[in-house]
Amino acid sequence: MTIARPQQILKIALDVPLDRLFDYTNNGFRAQLGARVVVSFAGRNLVGVVMEIAQVSDVPLEKLKPVIHVFDDVVFGAADFKLLKFCADYYHYPLGQTLIAALPLRLRQIKPAVTRKSYVYALNAQANVDEIPKKQIVLHKIAYTLLQSTLEANIHTGAGAVGLSANVLADISPGWRKAIAQLQDKGWITQKEIVAVKPSLRSSNVEPNLNSEQQQAITTILSENGFKPWLLHGITGSGKTEVYIQLLQKILAQKNAQALILVPEINLTPQLEARFRSRLSQYPLVTLHSNLSESERSQHWLAASSGAAKIVIGTRLSVFTPMPNLQIVIIDEEHDGSYKQQDGMRYHARDVAMVRAKQLNIPIVMGSATPSLETWRLSTQAHAKKAQYSLLSLKQRAVENAQLPKIHCIDIAKSPTENGLSPILINAIRERLKRGEQSLLFLNRRGYAPVLHCNACQWLASCTRCSAKLVVHLSQKRLKCHHCGHEQKIPLQCPSCGNADLSPVGQATQRLEQTLAALFPQARIARVDRDSVRNKDTLTEILTRVQNKEIDILVGTQMLAKGHDFPYLTLVGVMDTDTALFSPDFRASERLFSQLMQVSGRAGRAEMAGEVLIQTAFPQHELFSALKDQDYATYADTLLSERTLMQFPPGRYFALLKAEASDFSQVHAFLSQAANLARAASTASSNEVTVYDPVRPQMERLKAMERGHLLLQADSRQILQKLLKVWIPQLRAEKLNAKIRWALDIDPLEF
Ligand code: ADP
Ligand code: ZN
Ligand code: ZN
Repeated sequence: MTIARPQQILKIALDVPLDRLFDYTNNGFRAQLGARVVVSFAGRNLVGVVMEIAQVSDVPLEKLKPVIHVFDDVVFGAADFKLLKFCADYYHYPLGQTLIAALPLRLRQIKPAVTRKSYVYALNAQANVDEIPKKQIVLHKIAYTLLQSTLEANIHTGAGAVGLSANVLADISPGWRKAIAQLQDKGWITQKEIVAVKPSLRSSNVEPNLNSEQQQAITTILSENGFKPWLLHGITGSGKTEVYIQLLQKILAQKNAQALILVPEINLTPQLEARFRSRLSQYPLVTLHSNLSESERSQHWLAASSGAAKIVIGTRLSVFTPMPNLQIVIIDEEHDGSYKQQDGMRYHARDVAMVRAKQLNIPIVMGSATPSLETWRLSTQAHAKKAQYSLLSLKQRAVENAQLPKIHCIDIAKSPTENGLSPILINAIRERLKRGEQSLLFLNRRGYAPVLHCNACQWLASCTRCSAKLVVHLSQKRLKCHHCGHEQKIPLQCPSCGNADLSPVGQATQRLEQTLAALFPQARIARVDRDSVRNKDTLTEILTRVQNKEIDILVGTQMLAKGHDFPYLTLVGVMDTDTALFSPDFRASERLFSQLMQVSGRAGRAEMAGEVLIQTAFPQHELFSALKDQDYATYADTLLSERTLMQFPPGRYFALLKAEASDFSQVHAFLSQAANLARAASTASSNEVTVYDPVRPQMERLKAMERGHLLLQADSRQILQKLLKVWIPQLRAEKLNAKIRWALDIDPLEF
């Protein structure tokens, strides 16, 4: 038997490093755009997504393979394709890989998306329950219970839909499914999908009255239509989150509206999630982050893409979540570095969100106490020719009586530290202990000590695979490389001279914890870093103990800096900042300022005044004076002028070609060749792009690979992109690259 027709050509995106779609025939399946399919590619079966349906192909028909299977789940719509195509283009990443990487892992596998959908059932206007004979006991019972609930109206299932859920109906009668089916046959039932709602943390759902700045912010945002970027600038505690919540209450009241909220690391901020859940409880909310199981993740993703979930709170990857009726995007802590993906397609979620909002013609609200200079520049007249974002400022702390912390520097030249702690800081901690208040010591380095040193020959324990020192983890008696994961026992003698006198040098969180325990034996101390907190539950538990006043001193890394509310915390000690003050990384001071602002915000959140003590050898540094005045704007303006002078971003645009191989000469050869090609292309277009010489990055070796960088710079994204369009295909064709691995980082954050 021959299949006559209708034959369609499916153009399919696949997870392969080739920047094109692949043609297959539909094989009798009815395929929709955005559907997942299984095809055979180079001898393997792969999952792909139908991006186009055509009648013709450039490949002769008889050479086309048929698709093996078409799943009935449609994972992307036209709007999603538009965004993903933009990203593939802008980041010069293969389209198929861009698409597949945006899917949750489960949906990249060759199996149907297991959707256990839940519904609530309600009677509609056609229902005439009195028609049901009493002797049909189950049917009668179910119908009358539904009627009852309809009359009582507005019963919230906890997920916002009105009606009765499977659980409730099953309690009434085990035969409920059949009864519902019978009622459905009569056309009497409206069913509505619900999203399983997780029980939330304890959280208040009291709605505060907005202060005038908050009110103003919301009114202004709501007064505009269409695409509009807003920067909500306000220190920690100024009520930004409250603005998001009340803004969402307004926007989600529109029929079917959905909202996307991007957060840096949600598993570190359980309180934020709890607050959204309790205050917006009528709207089904799902989270998307790496702490979910794969099945939860795909369930949540599908709930968003079907429109059932009205609110998505997620980390950077969730910027790609299909949401058919997305009406607003909110980016909390927009300056946070975790929005940038550091491998594969190196996208920046804030930038992608901006494009998405523009494509959908909807508002986007970015919130921060210390906006990225990229965002700040575009929000103020001073630096950009025309401000493209609108600035909304919250200048006061929202809670009445809450005072700003007093910030002081401790000059460690005058008050020298012993085991990392200066006497002034020790006294301040002692004071807090006496008063029954809490202290937080911020030290952004985990482990016991950053280096192991031989006192005889000055040998330092280094990683053999990376240009990095091994960190001492004393409790496990191990040395660990924080870059590649390499671990070894702490040697008993110096491998270089045989001397047994080896000592850990410098401070890290475990050592600080130990020092504090010796100084204050009666104090209850908790440490928060990636070694002590491996999941959300441990962190939640520690945070609860802090809130219950069961902890006196907290020691922690930047994990502690973010969004936690500590009502009894009145002292923040900052341990070691000076390396960042003079780092070769041009973004280091921007990051340090924002980190210190954030961690300072932990002190004195309630009605008790807070104090921040910073140990430094450079108390006169302008970063600290700006910090003391809580004056982000002035400091940001200073940094922006410096950046302009040095021709650094923002305002200038970088593309970084990163290459690595086991042998550096290959890296060098490839990058030199790449530089020549780029220069040729640049000359052809009147030298608009500056092509630097290849250099070695600070971390020369990583995971046993020798690394090299080539930096390109231009005055505008367009100019840079024009060159990349010519250059990247040349690199892909380049024979030299067989032995090396290379990747392109557009708008790189790290070098
Ligand atoms: P941010 O997100 O800027 O750190 P939040 O929205 O979390 O600020 O507000 C800080 C605290 O102040 C929270 O406990 C919040 O409930 C409270 N709050 C916010 N706005 C108001 C207000 N208008 N009146 C009283 N309390 C408020
Ligand atoms: Zn030695
Ligand atoms: Zn290493």
